[in-house]
Amino acid sequence: MNELNRQDATNEASPPGGLPLLDDFTHEPRVAYFTMEIALRNEIPTYSGGLGVLAGDTVRSAADLVLPLVAVSLVSRAGYFCQAIDAQGRQVEQAATWEPHDWAQPLDAKIAVSIEGRAVWIGAWLYVLDGYLGGRQPVLLLDTDLDENHADDREITHYLYGGDDTYRLKQEIVLGIGGVRLLQALGFKIRHHHMNEGHSALLGLELLRRYEYPPEDLRPGELPYDVPRVREQCNFTTHTPVEAGHDRFAYPLVQRVLGTIVDAATLKHLAGEDSLNMTRLALNLSEYVNGVAKRHAEISNTMFPGYRVHAVTNGVHPFIWTSEPFRTLYDRYLPSWCHEPEQLVRADCCIPDAAFREAHAQAKRTLIERVRARSGVSLDPQTAILGFARRMTAYKRPDLLFSDLERLKAIARQRPFQVVLAGKAHPRDDGGKRLIEELHARARALEGSVPVVYLPDYDMEIAQALVAGVDVWLNTPLRPFEASGTSGMKAAFNGVPSLSVLDGWWIEGCIEGVTGWAIGHAADADDGDARALYDKLEQVVLPLYYAEKQDDPAGWVRVMKGAISKNASYFNSHRMMRRYAAEAYIR
Ligand SMILES: *Cc1c(COP(=O)(O)O)cnc(C)c1O
Repeated sequence: MNELNRQDATNEASPPGGLPLLDDFTHEPRVAYFTMEIALRNEIPTYSGGLGVLAGDTVRSAADLVLPLVAVSLVSRAGYFCQAIDAQGRQVEQAATWEPHDWAQPLDAKIAVSIEGRAVWIGAWLYVLDGYLGGRQPVLLLDTDLDENHADDREITHYLYGGDDTYRLKQEIVLGIGGVRLLQALGFKIRHHHMNEGHSALLGLELLRRYEYPPEDLRPGELPYDVPRVREQCNFTTHTPVEAGHDRFAYPLVQRVLGTIVDAATLKHLAGEDSLNMTRLALNLSEYVNGVAKRHAEISNTMFPGYRVHAVTNGVHPFIWTSEPFRTLYDRYLPSWCHEPEQLVRADCCIPDAAFREAHAQAKRTLIERVRARSGVSLDPQTAILGFARRMTAYKRPDLLFSDLERLKAIARQRPFQVVLAGKAHPRDDGGKRLIEELHARARALEGSVPVVYLPDYDMEIAQALVAGVDVWLNTPLRPFEASGTSGMKAAFNGVPSLSVLDGWWIEGCIEGVTGWAIGHAADADDGDARALYDKLEQVVLPLYYAEKQDDPAGWVRVMKGAISKNASYFNSHRMMRRYAAEAYIR
């Protein structure tokens, strides 16, 4: 660790008693970053997957870059869920309850919002996120579990993505409207609002109310609010081309739960005639809108004609997604990499090949040890490991690798490989749960030919070990549904190349044979993907991996270096945050 660049993650600026004061954060104007989920640390289960991890990396980068931000999310006391897998390969869900007192401090301020015609009081916990370079950022975790509230209302902030439409709408009222009111009550000076996904778009309605025209200024046919004033204070990041990812609420439900916060004509004008479409509301109340990769922005532009959707390709946080052996390496050869990951562009030339090999071997040993501890399976360090871990859902096609078991066995007879899998399915995603069962059945069918391990309860910690310890990171989504994908970026920080369908970030990140490999072509029909995957694995990837010991000893390490110097240097959240700051926040 480079001590000149990085302070220890303790709070030296804290007052006696160790608790930071809210005043530390309210004296200068901040960008308020609203997100339904956020991955703050592994012990706090307030995230479900990529969206939450991205939100966490956003705030981590803001801390490192000393870019004044305040994140607003829900406390989600009952977490997402903890995953176990039974003997039949079925997902078993257990509560992942956490105790906010252990990690955050309760704040005194309370505000109320009206839900179903009654006042629901909202308080908050202050979590202070310490960066890795001495900076820190406040995170407010909204909580309705207060004595003042009706028993049902106390549970509004309990379950992340739990419950029905009514429950979801209540959560979104708390996040968007409650969030804006609480920031004001706490004395925050907010210069800009960033909606991470449409869940928080109701915040725009609360802001509109601040800019209501006096009746005498109203002109016929005009909305009674200064919409441009709100738009210039807001930006919106859309995250998915999957239709179900865009919340819509029926107006009778909205009327019953939210009541009238702005007049019905204004609401329908901004949020859609037929139903309250949170994406449309966010689009209409944001001056700057972006998708999370170039292709995703193109698709969003066709999904939402009449709007301009920019592209800010996602990135991952340099420090937390780099394993210890690679941190040590970068600290030694490129000491400012944590602040300027662009420096990694030089990694291919200034770090010796042997050092990469040794760092990866160490990360691989760590993973193998962890797999043994969790599953009892001993993987072979000399044999290639393919890794696949992400939310288990149909469009991600975790089963593509296993679509032709005979072919897979034939490939393994020539050049052996092992597979490590992980991922949770949303409790109501029956297709995702069936996939988990199916993967377990395929793994059994491959016994004796290809070792396949499924690690239960995928979380940040497992992700850290996996993206660093495998040899190849596999990604096989159905085009064009992977808006970005970020786990392959995490792998790149650890010199692990991706073998991936050309979708999301990989369209930008793939240089064939240099940073990793493509499965199929961007324009192909998807039905050829399985064969393209097998062909590439059999004829290119595994031969190169084992050539290390024969005719092309530097071939594999060349691709490792390509992944780091060409991709980690770019697909990081510092670059992403510098772009949000320059293009979305300062306008
Ligand atoms: C990075 C990460 C994800 C997102 O991975 P994708 O490749 O974007 O699907 C999901 N869950 C966890 C725990 C992660 O760390």
